[in-house]
Amino acid sequence: MKIRTKIQWYSSLFLSVMLVLLSIIVLIAFLWISIEREQDMLENQASLIEENVKAKDLMSGHSSLLEPYTPDDGMVRVFDTERRLVNIFTDEEDLQELMIKSVDEKGYDFSKVDGEYVLTYRYPYPEKGQSLGMIEVTQTQDTLLDHLSTLAIVLAGSSLLVILISIIAGKWLANLILKPIALMSRTMTDIEESGEFKQIPLSDQSKDELQIMGVAFNRMIGRLELNFNQQQQFLSDASHELKTPITVIESYSSLLKRWGMKDAAIQEEAVEAIHHEATRMKQLTEHLLQAASQTVPAADMEEKVELHSFCEQIAQTFRRTGNREVTVQSEFNEIYVMITPSKLEQVIVILLDNAMKYSELSINLIIKQQDERILISVVDQGPGISPEHLPHVFERFYRVDSSRTRKTGGNGLGLSIARSLVESFEGSLEIQSELGVGTTVTIILSHQILI
Ligand code: ADP
Repeated sequence: MKIRTKIQWYSSLFLSVMLVLLSIIVLIAFLWISIEREQDMLENQASLIEENVKAKDLMSGHSSLLEPYTPDDGMVRVFDTERRLVNIFTDEEDLQELMIKSVDEKGYDFSKVDGEYVLTYRYPYPEKGQSLGMIEVTQTQDTLLDHLSTLAIVLAGSSLLVILISIIAGKWLANLILKPIALMSRTMTDIEESGEFKQIPLSDQSKDELQIMGVAFNRMIGRLELNFNQQQQFLSDASHELKTPITVIESYSSLLKRWGMKDAAIQEEAVEAIHHEATRMKQLTEHLLQAASQTVPAADMEEKVELHSFCEQIAQTFRRTGNREVTVQSEFNEIYVMITPSKLEQVIVILLDNAMKYSELSINLIIKQQDERILISVVDQGPGISPEHLPHVFERFYRVDSSRTRKTGGNGLGLSIARSLVESFEGSLEIQSELGVGTTVTIILSHQILI
C-alpha cells in the first residue's frame, strides 16, 4: 500500500473511531442527565402529593384530587397496603394498562406500555410511622427518546461531515508531505538512469524538515558531483602528464634504434633524455600515488618532536645535496610539538624542494611563535609568483609556467600534497609571494605545541 493511501486511511480510521467513541459518551451522558432530571421531577410530584393531600382523601378514590400533581402525559396511582388500586388519575388511556408491581420499596422502574417507554417512581406512603400504601407517579419518556434520537442523528451527521473533511484534508496533507519525497525519488531514478548529477528543485523557502532534507540531498549531490569531477580531472591530468614522458622516451628510443648506434652524439642525447624523462616519470608516479591515497599509514604515529633540531637535520641534507645555503632561524633553542615526524618532514622537503627549484639564492627556514601557533616558514629569494596565479598553486597539477617547471621537473602536485598532509595533522598552509622578491610558504601548527 502506498504511503499516501496509508496516511489517508489511518488518519480517517483513527478519527472515525474517536468520533464514534465521543458520540457514545455524549449520548450516554445526555441519557443519564435527562433520566436523573425526570426522576427528580417524579420524586418531587410524589412528595407534593404526600404533603398536600390528606391520606384519607387520597385513599377515597377522588381522582380529581390527583390531577394537579399528575405530570403531562403521565399518571398517578395510589395503592393500599394490599397493592389494590384505590385511586388513579391520567389523561392517557394507554397508561392505565401499566402492570401493577408487587414491590413495597421506594424505587424507579423503566417499562414499556403499548410500545411506549415509561418511567415510574414508587413511593411508600407512611403516616405517623404507619404504612398506608404506595403512591406511583408515572410519565411517558417519548420526548426524552425523541431528543436522544435527534441528538444521535446530529452526532452521526456531523461525524460523517468531519470524516469527509478529514479524508480531503488527509489527501492534501499526504500530497504536501510526499511531494518533496516523490521529487527526491524521481531525481534519484533520473540520476541512476542518466548517470548525470541532478538536484531537486526546491521552490519554497520554508525551514521545515522536508525542506532541510531536500537541501541536504542537494548538498550531498553537489559534493558527490564535485568529487566525481575532481577524480575525472585528476585521472585525465595524470594520464596526460604520463603521456608526455612516455612519448619522449618512445621517440628517443626509436631514434636510437634507427641511428643511435652509429652516432655517438645522438646516443648520448637520447640516453640523457630517456634518463631525465624516466626520473621525472618515477617522481610523478610517486607523487600521484601520494596524492591519490589520503589514508594515514598505520606506522605514522605521533611523536614528541623538537622542531629546531628536526629542521636543522633536513636543512643539512639539502645543503649537501643541493649545494645551496640553507639557514635555520628560530626564536627558541628548543621547542616541542606532538606530530607524525614523517609527515612533517615530507611537507618541509616539498617546500624546500620548490625553493631549490624556483630560486637560486640562499633559502631560510624560520621557526617562530605567534599567539598560540607555531609557524615554520620556508623563505626563498626567487622570482616569486604573480597574484593571479597565487590562489591556484595548491590545486593539483597547477603550474605557473609549465615550460619552466618542465625544465625543473615539477608536475604541479607538490603543494597540493603538502596541503593535504598539513591538513591531516590539523594544521594549515599559507603562501605569500612578491614578484622579483621571493616566496614564503608557512606551515601553521596550532594544536600540537607542547610547552
Ligand atoms: P611543482 O611540482 O610543479 O613544483 P607545486 O604544486 O609544488 O608543483 O607548485 C605549483 C606551482 O607553483 C609550481 O609549478 C610553481 O610554478 C609555483 N611555485 C611553487 N613554489 C614556488 C616558489 N618557491 N617560487 C616560485 N614559484 C613556486
